[in-house]
Amino acid sequence: MQIGEHVYSFHNGFKSDNALDFSKRSSFDCDVMLERVYPTRIILPMLQHCGEECVPTVRVGSHVTIGQCIGAPSPGSFAVPIHSGISGNVTAIKPITLPTGNTCQAVYIESDRKRTYHSSIRPRNDVNVSAAQVMGIVRDSGVVGMGGEGIPTIAKINRARKLKVKQLLVNCLQSEPFAACDYLRIGEYADYIIMGAVAMAGACGVKVINILISKEHKYEITALKSAMERSCTEYSGYAFNFKFMKQRYPQGYYRMVSKALYGVELKENETLEEKCKAVLFNCSTIYSCWEAIKDGIPLVSRVISISTENGISHNVLAPIGTPVSELLDSVNGMTNTSKRIIWGNHLTGIEINNPNDTPIIKTTSGVCVVNRSEISVAPCSGCGKCVDACPMDLEPVILHSLLISGKQDKADEFFARRCISCGACSYVCPSGLDLTGVIAAYSSSRRSQVRYPYSSVNDRINIGGASLLEAYTEQEQVQQVKDTNAFTLPFEGGKIV
Ligand code: SF4
Ligand code: SF4
Repeated sequence: MQIGEHVYSFHNGFKSDNALDFSKRSSFDCDVMLERVYPTRIILPMLQHCGEECVPTVRVGSHVTIGQCIGAPSPGSFAVPIHSGISGNVTAIKPITLPTGNTCQAVYIESDRKRTYHSSIRPRNDVNVSAAQVMGIVRDSGVVGMGGEGIPTIAKINRARKLKVKQLLVNCLQSEPFAACDYLRIGEYADYIIMGAVAMAGACGVKVINILISKEHKYEITALKSAMERSCTEYSGYAFNFKFMKQRYPQGYYRMVSKALYGVELKENETLEEKCKAVLFNCSTIYSCWEAIKDGIPLVSRVISISTENGISHNVLAPIGTPVSELLDSVNGMTNTSKRIIWGNHLTGIEINNPNDTPIIKTTSGVCVVNRSEISVAPCSGCGKCVDACPMDLEPVILHSLLISGKQDKADEFFARRCISCGACSYVCPSGLDLTGVIAAYSSSRRSQVRYPYSSVNDRINIGGASLLEAYTEQEQVQQVKDTNAFTLPFEGGKIV
């Protein structure tokens, strides 16, 4: 294990100095216990990843168990399966519109309160699995980028292999104010992240694993180092390094990582794999991969940070599909109808009005409850803070002014489409202007007609060169001989329905 002293960073972004001060997060991170939520029902949208919609494999009235596949990719499609996180009965299958604007079918399941696991869920006695096995398990367990990007993890492995990357980067750089689910995972399950990283490195064909983390996170660094020492005999041949990055928002975004670590400014459609020969996985994603490999459990739950604007917060472990209302009910004082509810984190989340009907999905890392205060808006003072904060080196003040006066073409000349919806410009603007709302809405509509992180169908099936799921294509050919409408149910011994 090597510990580098150099601290990497990109230039802009921000380190806040008020109520959202990052330094105030340490006690929040460490003191809050991870609580479990047992919802009375879950809602599972068939599109929770960057890709194409799955098809329900259950019917209304079906009884399902934990870990059972309830949504499968249609043959050859760019999708990964969806599993139930509770046992109970399917009460409805109907369309749902997510806060992102995406509409898809959703499976509604009422809990039977028994918490019965599917018969296929078994811990693996021998975790010495081959690269091909890791890929199969990661694909069939429906793991996607849990930091928010939602790209099926198997597609990133395929891309890394195709482009012959040399390094695997473990993203422990969660930096959005009060978002701490990744740190909880590291603190509580560092062994899973270390062993998961080794398995993923093996699948990608690399030997060097770089852990990206900020030095402020001493507790998590110690947890990771201890895990490495405990399991070092199990990963001989792999080199771990710590790469320390500044605690700066949005440091964990892959374009910021490429700038900070490799000095490479990625252009639109360029990838870390292609330009830096590195593949980046969020630490919670890696955790889920190892949980699937070791415990045989597909992606059915995740840690969510529930916070207010004062940072008073809880981290809960909840089945994917838990309605936001039930999530908030689990935390004292959070259910307050007069407050605004944000699906997501403070800077990148989306306000919702129907918490009963809005579920958390695979990519939801936080839910925020904030006061409904009147925001006073003043004319732009020309202070330039938004320009200093923009991690994409855009000029939000100019873009905002062009867009609200209908000069979209001119905004394109100022690279409006590069906006990554990070929210930094609105956050620092002393005049309270909704810069992000205007610019991000425009850039998303120009890029894909659908709000980030989801892309249009064309983008979905060609995400930065991520291939279609090659293994699915193979599977599909076998199936097509028998029945063109058949699905193979992952985690059910290849059962065809
Ligand atoms: S929301 Fe867009 S314009 Fe504003 S800081 Fe982020 S990338 Fe820049
Ligand atoms: S931060 Fe706000 S007030 Fe300052 S230049 Fe940008 S838009 Fe104008």
